[in-house]
Amino acid sequence: LAQLFRPLDLLGMVYRTIRQGVIDMASMFALVDTPADVTDAPDATPLDVAHGHVRFEGVSFGYDKGRPILDGLDIDVPAGTTLAVVGPSGAGKSTLARLLYRFYDVGTGRITIDGQDIAAVTQASLRAAIGIVPQDTVLFNDTIGYNIAYGREGAGPDEVARAAEGAAIAGFIERQPDGYDTRVGERGLKLSGGEKQRVAIARTLLKNPPILILDEATSALDSRTEADILATLEAVERGRTTIVIAHRLSTVVDADQIAVLDRGRVAERGTHAELLRRGGLYAEMWARQARERDEALAAE
Ligand code: ATP
Repeated sequence: LAQLFRPLDLLGMVYRTIRQGVIDMASMFALVDTPADVTDAPDATPLDVAHGHVRFEGVSFGYDKGRPILDGLDIDVPAGTTLAVVGPSGAGKSTLARLLYRFYDVGTGRITIDGQDIAAVTQASLRAAIGIVPQDTVLFNDTIGYNIAYGREGAGPDEVARAAEGAAIAGFIERQPDGYDTRVGERGLKLSGGEKQRVAIARTLLKNPPILILDEATSALDSRTEADILATLEAVERGRTTIVIAHRLSTVVDADQIAVLDRGRVAERGTHAELLRRGGLYAEMWARQARERDEALAAE
């Protein structure tokens, strides 16, 4: 998902978007990354999310002709459950998230939410239903309060404070001399990777979407911060359909379902325990990560 949120590419757009008064992050990303051919169907209707059941049905897709990235992919994420997507680099994990957000249209097959083909609904309603916690959060040179309020147009200070509470960053903000009016970014307070992620979580809480895409950071947070953030995310995931692009196997153990992508298809699916028993690709990845972790610990 990293390429989805290219901060540099975004700068010009961010400026324009703010000028237009459009503060929906989703529409901003849409402006940047949506190719011109993704348009609302003339008879598009708003997406009606009753439960948040997400399905990929025989989805094939390639960015370039002749180079398929996804090849007949089937994935079923029942409403309110968490799917972790793992697999080798370049397997198509982020692509899957981009397709759900409809940055691109699928080649063949379809993606549905509560039975509605996402290509047949308005893009605005689709993106309003999906929250994204990216790897790298774009912060504006503005106050921390503004950066959180950005999650939903018209959010008041009380709502911002509640979202900050939910993202476990309220204490940190209150300790700053200017509280929510503290400026962040280039000319202000510098936030750590973990703090930035909490801002993204707070924005998402304000948006309150039924469907969530989490792109796990590849950059190492220290293990305490990581554990804290995971606990916060667990609370955010509750009651929402969640797709996690997982880079660390340690974070997928509790997922309801794990899909192992390989060469554009789901090579294995199951719970952590099921996949370990199976002794396939996932079990191999798990053993390798466990070995690397033990070596790192031994070296400390
Ligand atoms: P990682 O774990 O490294 O992030 P991933 O599984 O998320 O990998 P994707 O980002 O979905 O993989 O990429 C799948 C393939 O599609 C890769 O071979 C990548 O080079 C290619 N790809 C990604 N984005 C584009 C693009 N905009 N145009 C052309 N090819 C792309």
